[in-house]
Amino acid sequence: MARTMQAYRLLDWEQPPQLVETAVPRPGPGEILVKVAGNGLCHSDTAMPLIPGDMGTALGWHMPFTLGHEIAGWVDELGDGVSGLSEGEAVALISPKSCGGCWYCVRGYDSACTEGGAGRGYGRDGGLAEYVVASAPRDVIKLRTLDPVTAGPLTDAGATSYHAVRRVLPKLAPGSMAVVIGAGGLGSFAVQFLRVLSPTRVVAVDTNPVRLSFARELGAHDVVSGVDEGTVQALRTLSGGQGAEAVLDFVGVDSTIAAGLASVRPTGSFACVGAGGGTFKGPWYGGLPREADVFTFQGSTIAHAHEVMALAEAGLIRNEVDLFSLPQVAEAYEKLDRGELRGRAVVTPGR
Ligand code: NAD
Ligand code: ZN
Repeated sequence: MARTMQAYRLLDWEQPPQLVETAVPRPGPGEILVKVAGNGLCHSDTAMPLIPGDMGTALGWHMPFTLGHEIAGWVDELGDGVSGLSEGEAVALISPKSCGGCWYCVRGYDSACTEGGAGRGYGRDGGLAEYVVASAPRDVIKLRTLDPVTAGPLTDAGATSYHAVRRVLPKLAPGSMAVVIGAGGLGSFAVQFLRVLSPTRVVAVDTNPVRLSFARELGAHDVVSGVDEGTVQALRTLSGGQGAEAVLDFVGVDSTIAAGLASVRPTGSFACVGAGGGTFKGPWYGGLPREADVFTFQGSTIAHAHEVMALAEAGLIRNEVDLFSLPQVAEAYEKLDRGELRGRAVVTPGR
């Protein structure tokens, strides 16, 4: 009889996820089976049960599937043709799918791969289960000193925010200012990457005072409570009047996009990373900062995920987590929603 395991799954479109018994997957050729040590919970997960079937199908999603795209664990079994890995080795997994051969992948933009609409934990089986399958070596980052129980968030919350920070880095000369709107899971990493990689002055903006004091602990020079009418003025004052060189919005609702764009100086950058579904409508003249870059993006490249892992291995960034067992998964999502976490929530199925 096939082995079974517990998994937190979406069973059908527009239905809440459930903890159910399902078959342990088998690794195919070129794949490994990973025993999940820890899986980080991302705010994006909470939007997945709301996605209508036609949209999910267009993205290449298949029902049912297991949630969870911030995964680390131990190699449990090697599929045919896999070499360079051994059973019991600690690994973190790259969850976005990329083919390696399309126009984007061959130019290093694997985050924009034409097959990237579905990934591990979004449309395909993810890490909120005792076991998960991954392609090797493409999806695998070997862990040298990092604990696989806690490393999962580095691959997504870490890598996505790093990808944004790397893009604005050339503008962050001494004397510059960078703003992080939404100092939650992704934003807390962004504050640290900005401090480690640049001489810029870092300002964190959040509605939750607990997140702001944590952002200070992680190195933010200033914090602003918001977003409201006073936020843009407060940021302008902090920047000496001209606005920030970069604003990274990890919320992405109308109010944060409007405040973020209004706080960017001419020639600066605005990144909308948060999937809050916000919009911006403004006059072509005066509505947007002159000569500014405005960009949105999806996740991270594989290369940037490796670089985040290297920064963590070197002890240059902190990866704060709150641990939960698999049966506590729904409670952990509630705490994320209510803003009651200190670190990233990590569920530990294989511990
Ligand atoms: P989180 O809940 O950990 O953090 C969000 C933070 O924003 C919280 O600290 C919250 O207090 C703050 N916040 C909420 N509303 C605010 C407002 N109006 N003004 C100021 N601050 C506000 O979430 P997370 O897991 O860090 O994810 C952040 C966003 O990034 C989500 O929208 C998620 O879907 C998205 N995301 C995008 C990608 C991508 O590839 N583009 C990847 C992962 C996550
Ligand atoms: Zn591709």
